[in-house]
Formats: sequence, structure tokens, C-alpha cells
Amino acid sequence: MARSIATTRTAPDLRDRVAAWRDAGKSIALVPTMGALHAGHLSLVALAKSKADAVVASVFVNPAQFGPKEDLALYPRDEAGDLAKLLDAGAALAYVPDAAEMYPPSYSTRVSVGDLTDDLCGAARPNHFDGVASIVAKLLMQCAPDIAVFGEKDYQQLLVVRRLVRDLDMPVEIVGGPVIREADGLALSSRNAYLSPEERKRAPVLFQTIRDVAADLERGRGADDAALAGRFKLEAEGFRVDYVAVRDPDTLRPLSGPVKRARVLAAVHLGRTRLIDNVPVPSR
Ligand code: AMP
Repeated sequence: MARSIATTRTAPDLRDRVAAWRDAGKSIALVPTMGALHAGHLSLVALAKSKADAVVASVFVNPAQFGPKEDLALYPRDEAGDLAKLLDAGAALAYVPDAAEMYPPSYSTRVSVGDLTDDLCGAARPNHFDGVASIVAKLLMQCAPDIAVFGEKDYQQLLVVRRLVRDLDMPVEIVGGPVIREADGLALSSRNAYLSPEERKRAPVLFQTIRDVAADLERGRGADDAALAGRFKLEAEGFRVDYVAVRDPDTLRPLSGPVKRARVLAAVHLGRTRLIDNVPVPSR
């Protein structure tokens, strides 16, 4: 019989299995995902494995982080494929709760991280980060891992999770993993599946543009100027731009004038697909 990954669908069972590992002296890492797994997710599993004895990957498409007009119903789902990939990647356990497990009747608590969520994706997607913070808080409480791994692909989310854990004194280390890209630079994303062949050809312009903004900044161009040039480039290429921003990499506060350390972040719409990406300054 083909091997398959151990899978659990309930929080009490997850807790029991993690407790057994802990009793055996093992450290535990959690990698939260929404499934439709790709090499970006699997790189986080590999990073988690390098830092802990047992890796739990969660797969849950969290309704609370989608807006009423967003793509919840369309969001790609492939549980069998995800479980096979997690087994190959060396995860020890898949946690695949359903919506009733996460949001039982009369569920009424919301975790809200301020400040960091006021703009960028927070402005474009009201309530999105409350949904993220709430589900991440629940997953961390349910699993109680030593570390949890998140991708820099969702850079604002990574900082929100770091802030959440710090503010609520959660005893877990948050580890960030670098953005994994296609050969042409497009950041891997489950949402890339929405792109038409023609849009897929144009999509790498997002990465090329923010990389150019980063190069401009490294040459001493002012932050506002460089960001505006990036916006114009993307608009000229037919993208609808939510933002192109040059921010402090730790606080996400806006920067202006010449910068030494920054993060260039952008969000655009290409057809009906929303794409986000970011790069560090200086580039690594
Ligand atoms: P998602 O399934 O989109 O919610 O993503 C789950 C985790 O994978 C998040 O921490 C993302 O930041 C991370 N992730 C998604 N795409 C990538 C990528 N291309 N490179 C690295 N991490 C990623």
C-alpha cells in the first residue's frame, strides 16, 4: 500500500499527538497554509525540518480572511495532492480541520493587530488581517509548537504574526522563509492558477518592477520618487496598482528620501487576479 501522511482533523487529536512528541523529547514546528501547495510552501516545510524534530503542516482555507467580494469559493483546493506533497517534503503530520472545527456555533472572538495593518494590504482588504491574526492565534494555541514558519512572500502578514506573538506573549519563535520564485521571477502563489496564459506571460513584470525600484534605491534615488516610477511602470504595462511602497522593513512605516534599509512592497491586479510581491533593500 502506498504510504500516506498521518492526518488529523481535530484540535484535541492534534494536541495529543504533539504532546506525545514532546514527551519523547522532540521539538515541534508548525507551517500554516491554505493548501494548493507549491514549492514555496514546501520550502517552508524544509526550513521547519531544519529547525525542529517534527513538522506539522496545517491546511485550512480560512473564510475569515476573505472579503465578501473575494475569491473564497474559487480558491484552489487539492487535499489529496497536498497530503502527498507534505509526505514527500518530510512533514510528520497534516492538520486539516474543517470550518466547523475552527469556527463552532457561537464562535465570537476576533484577534486584531493594530498599527501594522492600517495600510498596504490592510487598506485594500478590510478585516483581512483580523482574519489572519485570529486563525494564526488559534493554530498556535491548538498546536503549541516551538517554532512556526511563515513566508516573506506575505511580508506584512509575517510582521503581523511576529507582533501578535510578541504582544500576547505566546511562547513560540516565528521564523521567516525567503520568497520562492518561478524561473522568470514570478513569486509562486496558489493564486497564479487564476492567470490566463497571456496574463501569466506578463505577470513577471511585477517582480521586475520592484527589483528595479530596489536597484534605484541602492543607487541613492529617493524613496517616493522610486516608488512612483514603479507605479507608473506597472500602470503602463496594464496592471491596476493597489500600491508600490518603500517601507521600513521592521515597522512598515513609510520612508522618504535616500534609504539604507527598506522593503519594497507592491500589490496589483492583473485581470481578476490580485498579486503581491516584495524585495529587500539592500538585496541579499
Ligand atoms: P498561503 O497558503 O498562501 O496562505 O501561504 C502559506 C504560507 O506559505 C505563508 O506563510 C506564505 O507566506 C507562504 N508562501 C506562499 N507563497 C510563497 C512563496 N512563493 N515563497 C515562500 N513562501 C510562500
